[in-house]
Amino acid sequence: MKRKTKLIHGGIAGDPHTGAVSVPIYQVSTYKQESVGKHSGFEYSRTGNPTRHALEELIKDLEGGHAGFAFGSGMAAITAVMMLFKSGDHVILTDDVYGGTFRVMSKVLNRFGIESTFVDTSNLDNIEKAVQSNTVALYLETPTNPLLKITDIEGAVAEAKKHNLLTIVDNTFSTPYWQTPIENGADIVLHSATKYIGGHSDVVAGLVVVNSEKLAEDLHFVQNSTGGVLGPQDSWLLMRGIKTLGVRMEETEKNTHDIVEFLKNHPAVEKVFYPGLEEHPNHEIAKKQAGGFGGMVSFDVGSGENADKLLKKIKYFTLAESLGAVESLISVPARMTHASIPAERRAELGITEGLVRISVGLEDAEDLIEDLKNALED
Ligand SMILES: *Cc1c(COP(=O)(O)O)cnc(C)c1O
Repeated sequence: MKRKTKLIHGGIAGDPHTGAVSVPIYQVSTYKQESVGKHSGFEYSRTGNPTRHALEELIKDLEGGHAGFAFGSGMAAITAVMMLFKSGDHVILTDDVYGGTFRVMSKVLNRFGIESTFVDTSNLDNIEKAVQSNTVALYLETPTNPLLKITDIEGAVAEAKKHNLLTIVDNTFSTPYWQTPIENGADIVLHSATKYIGGHSDVVAGLVVVNSEKLAEDLHFVQNSTGGVLGPQDSWLLMRGIKTLGVRMEETEKNTHDIVEFLKNHPAVEKVFYPGLEEHPNHEIAKKQAGGFGGMVSFDVGSGENADKLLKKIKYFTLAESLGAVESLISVPARMTHASIPAERRAELGITEGLVRISVGLEDAEDLIEDLKNALED
């Protein structure tokens, strides 16, 4: 099945009882048992719910893994995956991971003895150097947020395998439409489904896909034990979003291409960060491992003051956190999504005050460019 067909026909098709073409929303917490322990596969909705199950089957198919899991947010998904580990274990992570990932590792999970080291995984040598005797996993985000750095997934998996580490990939920015890390050897793929997968700024959710029966058993145990599950209504909204993921990603790609061309040639823009640019240091790897470069672009306007001036004039880009929706969004990472990262660390990473991040939506590209042009004028 090709990608676009899989988005529509993957997972579970509709409802066999009624012929309904969309999976019903099973707004239910518990299920009748014929006799003790004799039931039709569902006992209690934390353990399993038919609507959530349909979504979990769908994301499993899209990522090409063994089992899927849906959580109440991307952070709940990430935390559940980290709960596979135990006190004393060590995880190596990409240095400019999502701010919330940095926070949960360095301020919450550290309290339970899970250690972490953050390195620039776009340079594979850094992975090997960070391995300790207690290292159990390598956690990659590619492309990264907000500097759009790219890690070679296959190369990183090879490093991880040498040391018996699990490879986990946050695939939020690319989505399974463009990138399927399990095919590159990763063990676990996860998403903030709040972003492109939902796609309409109306759901907060997280998804995980694992590539083995053992990981599936272990993660289901964590999901059921800690309970951060996604509700049936939100599961249904994600399935609806996924049906148009392909057309949304294709259209986003075109709009983003035009906008990047415009930004690159604008005198008020000091630097553009986008993996689709030939001068991007990992352009070739991005091209090799993903079918598209995505709709996230960052650019530097030189100062926080300039960023504020731009924000004041911009009309079609909504000033908001989050990304991956039909509407274009704009943010200043240093003061928004990445505010939870200490200032000196932000400086180290290159997340400057003048760095502006856009999530390109599905408006007409000409309108978006006109809008940016007006806002960048002095
Ligand atoms: C938003 C985001 C998360 C966190 O997901 P939530 O749904 O907000 O909890 C994790 N990773 C990336 C790359 C994100 O963009």
